Amino acid sequence: MFRRRFLQAALAVLTALLPVAGIQAVTAAPASADMSAAVRTIYYDASRAGVFATNFAQAAQIWNSRVSNIRLQAGTPASVVIYVDTGWPRAQTTSLGAGRIWMGWQAVNQGYDRTRIATHEWGHILGLPDRRTGLCSDLMSGSSAPVSCTNAQPSTAEANRVQQLFAGSLTPALAGSGSGGNGVTWTWHGN
Ligand SMILES: [Zn+2]
Repeated sequence: MFRRRFLQAALAVLTALLPVAGIQAVTAAPASADMSAAVRTIYYDASRAGVFATNFAQAAQIWNSRVSNIRLQAGTPASVVIYVDTGWPRAQTTSLGAGRIWMGWQAVNQGYDRTRIATHEWGHILGLPDRRTGLCSDLMSGSSAPVSCTNAQPSTAEANRVQQLFAGSLTPALAGSGSGGNGVTWTWHGN
């Protein structure tokens, strides 16, 4: 008798809860639809970037604040590895959001801004080509802007392009390799 009453009570509770579950399922639908525009986390390893690690952390923060569907984060497994050497800064892209960056002392010694270089090289990894417009307001103008340029922010057009690339509505401009963009190296040339 007790058991039957218990079952009846349990059934009553379940019946009461079912519409709630139904409502939750309905409200969950828009959330999962949003997942198609999901944020893609790109892990990077700046442990070999030496004194420039902070510049790359700043650069990651800048991109994260300007493009809502990517999140650049130090961690593993890293699809982007950052090195430092004595040459020109450069980025080698392997696919959208993956590749290698070399921070180069040659540009730093000429006076180019470290964080601007770091954010620019990230721009290549995020699918942007060099555009030597000479404008400091453009990030991808790179070394064509004056050495005195310290702007490390992508222009609105540059940020929008990255947003579109990661939304899948544009094809990366991994120019002219004929191999699907694999192994393209973009180099920051100074004078
Ligand atoms: Zn470049």
